[in-house]
Amino acid sequence: MPTKTLAEAKQRAADLRKQLDQWADAYYSEDRPVVEDAVYDRAYQELLGLEHDFPEIVSPDSITQRVGGQVNNEFTKVRHPIPMLSMGDVFSKQELVDFDQRLQKQVGHPVAYNVELKIDGLSLSLEYEQGRLVRASTRGNGQVGEDVTANARYIEDIPQNVPNNFTGEVRGECYMGKDAFAKLNAARDAAGQATFANPRNAAAGSLRQLDPSITKQRHLSTFIYTWVNPPAEITSQHQAIAEMAKMGFHTNPTGQKLANLDEIDQYIDEYTQKRNSLTYGIDGIVLKVDDLSLQQELGNTVKVPRWEIAYKFPPQEEATIVHEIVWTVGRTGVVTPTAVMDPVQLAGTTVSRAVLHNPDLLKEKDVRIGDTVLLHKAGDIIPEISQVVLSKRPQDSVPYEIPTECPSCGQPLTHLADEVALRCLNPMCPAQVEERIIHFASRPAMNIMGLGPKIIRQLIKQDLVKDVADLYQLTAEDLQGLPHFQAKSINNLLTAIENSKQNSVELLLFGLGIDHVGAKAARLIAEKFQTMDRIQAATAAEIDAIPTIGETISNSLTAYFEQDSAQELLSQLKAAGLNMRFLGQTPAEAPENPFKDKRVVLTGKLVHFTRSEFTAKLQALGAKVTGSVSKKTDYVIYGDDPGSKYDKAQALGVELLTEAEALQQLGEKDQD
Ligand code: NAD
Repeated sequence: MPTKTLAEAKQRAADLRKQLDQWADAYYSEDRPVVEDAVYDRAYQELLGLEHDFPEIVSPDSITQRVGGQVNNEFTKVRHPIPMLSMGDVFSKQELVDFDQRLQKQVGHPVAYNVELKIDGLSLSLEYEQGRLVRASTRGNGQVGEDVTANARYIEDIPQNVPNNFTGEVRGECYMGKDAFAKLNAARDAAGQATFANPRNAAAGSLRQLDPSITKQRHLSTFIYTWVNPPAEITSQHQAIAEMAKMGFHTNPTGQKLANLDEIDQYIDEYTQKRNSLTYGIDGIVLKVDDLSLQQELGNTVKVPRWEIAYKFPPQEEATIVHEIVWTVGRTGVVTPTAVMDPVQLAGTTVSRAVLHNPDLLKEKDVRIGDTVLLHKAGDIIPEISQVVLSKRPQDSVPYEIPTECPSCGQPLTHLADEVALRCLNPMCPAQVEERIIHFASRPAMNIMGLGPKIIRQLIKQDLVKDVADLYQLTAEDLQGLPHFQAKSINNLLTAIENSKQNSVELLLFGLGIDHVGAKAARLIAEKFQTMDRIQAATAAEIDAIPTIGETISNSLTAYFEQDSAQELLSQLKAAGLNMRFLGQTPAEAPENPFKDKRVVLTGKLVHFTRSEFTAKLQALGAKVTGSVSKKTDYVIYGDDPGSKYDKAQALGVELLTEAEALQQLGEKDQD
C-alpha cells in the first residue's frame, strides 16, 4: 500500500523529475555527470515506484516516459525511423526471475535469451548503402540523433566497407577501452584539463565532437549488437551477431544463448568476477529474448523494449579514512593533490591513495583530514573519492587549506588562464626537474638502465645534474661520492648513459617529455621527418598531416621547439654526441620476412617478450601492429588467456599463430 497521499506523491514526483532532468542534462548533453550513476538510479527507481503506485501522476514529459538524451543543435540531425530506445533495468537477481516469469506467462512457454555484457558506452547507429558506410548517428532523444559520420570514420574498428553491397543499418555501443581512458585522463590531468568521470562519458565526449580530428586522437572502439530489420534467414539475436562478425563488424564474443536462469546466474557471477580484468568497462548484463519473431511480438513501451532487460552491477564502494593530503609536482609543473588513506580492498586491488585532480575538486568535495570517505573506481580502474561521510566527520575538523606555494621550490602557485589546475611556473623547480629526468631515463624513453628515481634524486641533491643534458657530462669522479656507489656500478651507469647516445631519435623525442607527445606519436613523427633538425623545422600543418596525429600534438610540438630553452637543450645534447636520426627501418626498408607489410594483432599473455617488445620487433620487420582484429588483419599472434581478439579472428578466419609459431616463422627457435 502506498504510504503517501496523492498530493504528496505528486509533489515528490515533481521534485524528483526536476532533479533527474538536471542530472540527465549534465550527463547526456555535457558528458559531465554531477552525481554517481547509483544516486541517479535510486532517484529514478523512486520516481518509477511513485508512478506505479499513483498511475494518475504519470505525465508524458516525465523522464520515465522518454529516452534521456538530447540533440546538440550544432550537429546535423538524423531521424531514426525505428527509434533507438533505452532499456529497462533491474538491480537484483530476483527481479530477473520476476522478469522471466512475466514473459513466460505472457508467451505461454519457456524463453531462451541471448545474454550479453552491458558495455559502458553510448549507442551508435551505422547505416550502409551498397556496402559503403554512409551515416553514423547517436541515439539523441531516441527519435532524432546527431550525425557523427565524420567522427565514426576515425574509429578503427568500424568497417567503412561491408561485403556483398550491404545496404542496411546496424547498431551497437561506442566505447573507450580502459587503457585509452586511463591515458586520456592522465594526459588531461597533466595538461591541467578536467578529467572524464568514466569511460562512458569519455566515449560520448570524444564521439560528439564538432572537430572529428579530436575523435581521431581518442581511440574509440565499438561492439555492434543489433541488426535492424535483418533478412528473413536471420531468426535469432545470437545468429545476427555471428553474421555481423563475419561481415567485419566488431562484435563482443562473450554473448551466450542461455535457456535457464541457473545458467544466467552463473554467467552473471562469472562476469561480475571477470569485470575488473576486461579491457573495457561494463556496468551490467543484458538479457535479450533470442528469437527475433518473439521480440517483434512482445514489442516496446514508449521507452524500452519489452523483450530485454539489463541487470546492473551494484556499485563497488568502500569506506576508509583520510590521513593526509599530499601535493605532487608533475614534469609540466601541474601541482596535484592526492588523498592518502587507510588501505582498503576495492574491486580487486588494495587502494590507499586517490588523486583529487585539482584544488576545485578538493574544495567541492570538501575532503578534510580525518574524514571518512567512500571510495569507488572510476571506469573500474581509477580510485576516486565519491563522497565524504558527513555523519562520521570528527567534531574538531577544519576545512583543508589549499597551498599557495610550490611544495618543492616554494615559489607562488598560479592558475593559468582557463585552467583549473594549479601550476608551479618555475622551470628550475627541483620536483619538475626530477620528473623530467625520470621520464627521460625511463624504459620507454631513453632506457638508461640503472638510472632510476632514487639515483636521479641523489644526483640532483648533489647538484650534479639540473637537466637531462647534464647526464652526459657526468664523470666517474662525480659519482664516487654518492652513497652505495662502487666502481662496478659507476662503470655500469656511465656505460648505460653512453649507450643511450646511440638511440634512435624517436626515443629522444619522447624523452623530452613534450606535452601530449607519447611514445607512439614520437615514433610516427620521427619516421616521417627522419632527423631532429627536420622535426624542429616542421610546421604544425606538416605534422598534422601524419595519419592519427592531430592538432593537439602538432601544436604542442611546435610550441615546444619555439622556446629558447628547448633550442639550447637540443644543441647541448647534439654537442654531447647524441644520435639525432631515425634508425628504425621504415616498413619498406625492412628485410623480407613473413610479417613484412602484414597487419598483425597481438593478444593474450606472451612468454618470451612483453607486448611492447614484440610490437617493436614486428614493427622493425615492417609489420603494421594494430589493436583490433578486422577482416584486413593477416595474423593474430596469441599468448596465454587470449581474449575476444582470438574469438574474433576465428570467426573471421584470420590466421592464428601462437607466440612460439610466430618466432619459428622468424627463424627464432622457441626456448621451451
Ligand atoms: P542504459 O545505459 O542504462 O541502457 C541502455 C543502453 O545500454 C543502450 O542504449 C545501449 O547504448 C547500452 N548497451 C550496452 N550494452 C548493450 C548491449 N549488449 N545490448 C544492448 N544495449 C546495450 O540506459 P540509458 O537510458 O542510456 O541511460 C540510463 C542510465 O544512465 C541510468 O541508469 C544511469 O545509470 C545513467 N545516467 C546517469 C546520470 C548521472 O547523473 N550519473 C544521468 C543520467 C543517466
